[in-house]
Amino acid sequence: MGYKIAIDGPAGAGKSTIAKMIAEKLDFIYVDTGAMYRAVAYFFIHNGIENLDGANVKLMCAQMDIRISYEEGNQNVILNGKNVTGYLRSEEVGKMASIVAVNREIREKLIDLQRYISGEEDVVMDGRDIGTQVLPDAQLKIYLTASIDVRARRRFEELEEKGVSANIEDIKADIETRDKNDMNREIAPLCQAEDAILVDTSEMTIDEVVAKIISLYKGNCS
Ligand code: C5P
Repeated sequence: MGYKIAIDGPAGAGKSTIAKMIAEKLDFIYVDTGAMYRAVAYFFIHNGIENLDGANVKLMCAQMDIRISYEEGNQNVILNGKNVTGYLRSEEVGKMASIVAVNREIREKLIDLQRYISGEEDVVMDGRDIGTQVLPDAQLKIYLTASIDVRARRRFEELEEKGVSANIEDIKADIETRDKNDMNREIAPLCQAEDAILVDTSEMTIDEVVAKIISLYKGNCS
């Protein structure tokens, strides 16, 4: 079935940066599931769809064809034939993603895609429900977190680096809202799987986190 590493955790914990680096080092496929929820959010925003009741979302779901392709190890999300990867990282899309992610049809559609991509491959997959729902048999499960202040500061610095002006208090409030949505929704809420290892990165560098997870993997394999 391939070796599966599941990385879950709240917004801004550094999951995608860490997961991508681990995948590169181990020569695994990196699957960013947040980008899939973001693609759905982009579809709603781009088409000006404001009606988020169950029946309408179901209807919209049928109109979305989401595929994943890889280019030099980087994941691209193709929505109805268009590569939308470049539009997915904004705060607006992130907020909308956590709103649409409460919907059962959307989750089922994306979970099917996530399991299909994972297949027999060795993968590092990050998200909110990977260890609990998508890949419950993953050989290594990590719950990656950091304090809210550290997560807000990292996101702020990331935006500054891109030349996007931002206010740290606004970022903190957005992250808190998103965590609340993700942890309290009815279907597949964010939580640490019973067999997941908690890694608090508040006081760790990226390289330290990567080294720690790789050593857990090696310990598991020996
Ligand atoms: O990780 P990222 O910030 O890209 O995720 C965006 C949103 O997508 C999350 O806040 C969450 O609501 C949703 N999501 C989810 N399940 C996943 C991945 C993301 O519900 N496996």
